[in-house]
Amino acid sequence: MIRFAFDLSEEFQVPVLVRPAIRVCHARQNIRYKTLKNNPTPANFKKEPSRWASTPKFRFLQHKALNEKHVKISEKFNTLKAFNQHNLKKGKTYPFGVITGGVPSSVVRDLFEEYDRKDIPLLKLGAPYPFPEKLADAFLTACDKVLVIEETDTVIEYMLRDKVKTLGRLSGHVPMEGELVPEKIEVILNKALADCKQSPLSDFDGGKEAFGLVGGLGLPLRKPTLCPGCPHRASFYSIRKAMPKAVFPSDIGCYTLGSNLGVVDTVLDMGAGITMASGFYNAYIQDGVQKPIVATLGDSTFFHSGITGLINAVYNDSRFILVILDNGITAMTGMQPAITQGLRVDGRKGNAVSLEGVVEGCGVKYLKVVDPFDTKNMIKTIKKAADYVNDPKGGIAVIISRHPCVIGFKDAAIPEKITVRVSGECNDCGFCRDRFECPALFRNPETEKTEINTVLCAECGVCLQVCPRKAITKCDHPF
Ligand code: SF4
Ligand code: SF4
Repeated sequence: MIRFAFDLSEEFQVPVLVRPAIRVCHARQNIRYKTLKNNPTPANFKKEPSRWASTPKFRFLQHKALNEKHVKISEKFNTLKAFNQHNLKKGKTYPFGVITGGVPSSVVRDLFEEYDRKDIPLLKLGAPYPFPEKLADAFLTACDKVLVIEETDTVIEYMLRDKVKTLGRLSGHVPMEGELVPEKIEVILNKALADCKQSPLSDFDGGKEAFGLVGGLGLPLRKPTLCPGCPHRASFYSIRKAMPKAVFPSDIGCYTLGSNLGVVDTVLDMGAGITMASGFYNAYIQDGVQKPIVATLGDSTFFHSGITGLINAVYNDSRFILVILDNGITAMTGMQPAITQGLRVDGRKGNAVSLEGVVEGCGVKYLKVVDPFDTKNMIKTIKKAADYVNDPKGGIAVIISRHPCVIGFKDAAIPEKITVRVSGECNDCGFCRDRFECPALFRNPETEKTEINTVLCAECGVCLQVCPRKAITKCDHPF
């Protein structure tokens, strides 16, 4: 599809968006591709200001040209058998048909094969925009009712003209949210067929009995959590210790899991940790209240989308603490190097960009760098930063909490392994498990004590600083 998208873009001189819906994004497999050739079309920019720098008159003409292209592309999609096709028999009409897009197309096809339902025609739309009107109209005309099964939202369903014939999300036959897994699709098809007085595929009820049995096992719920030894956990622990009553706007990255530690109150989009902190400050200060606010975001998120928000906050004299969680890597999206590393994504050398330099360049006057593994120092630094924020002559305080990602740079993250154990002093208060939430700390129901899971423990030693009774201690012997 991507190869086709490039060709289409060249042919019609338009950008083409490939929209992988949810189940494609959740899949992985090996792919084969032919040897990549050298670029056959070297860069050759032709100056054409009416197109590339157009003023309103030329924009009007371009809009007209774009509308004409839409009609032509729609025509192309009507007969684009590789992606858009149906299996209607010429001249035949049907009481019920199905229109699909994305992975549900394959699921529906598999189900029809499994239950030998050659009587139900299927229209698969892989290229739905500009909408292949003629193809869809032919399908609608041949069917009394059509059920639309597409991922995530109503795209194809909205574009079908005959809403009376159409079943889908708008008619309540397809759930508005959640993934369309095969079990769900079978139930959806069964209900729609029954509503149209057609025999269902099966009497499958979505596996209620199996779900009931599994539910009855009382299996423990496991929340997604930061890795053992993750420096973000130590940062969040210190932030909450230093500023327990603050508002905590945060951002998008693996550190969003700081919500488990009670230090992530908002997550909206990349950079919103800063812009929402600014918004909170300005909303409260109108009533004369200077709310304590600690915003967090990762180093990569900061470079991606935090800089403009920070400039805006400095310019408007918003007051909050910003903690940039600098682990030197873009961990959540696959361990790409952060731009502070001076390495490009394909391994070639790039030019490292200084995080401190950019923060100061945004106009920030208060900047400290700490190692979050030293929680005592980090707590002290946050408290001092709060004094600066509250000082009439102060401003935004930025703290760079810098420690390498424990997965991306294991040796650098934990240069010296510290083996820990829980001593008999433990009174099972649960503080370390609740407030530090390292997955290696668990409660043994038999001993009613906290213990260390030695398989999970990364031996970072940070939990030594957490237990108020000092019941977590260094251990010189192997477990
Ligand atoms: S190790 Fe310390 S913090 Fe954890 S449960 Fe025991 S006493 Fe509480
Ligand atoms: S040393 Fe403590 S904090 Fe570090 S991974 Fe092990 S249990 Fe977790």
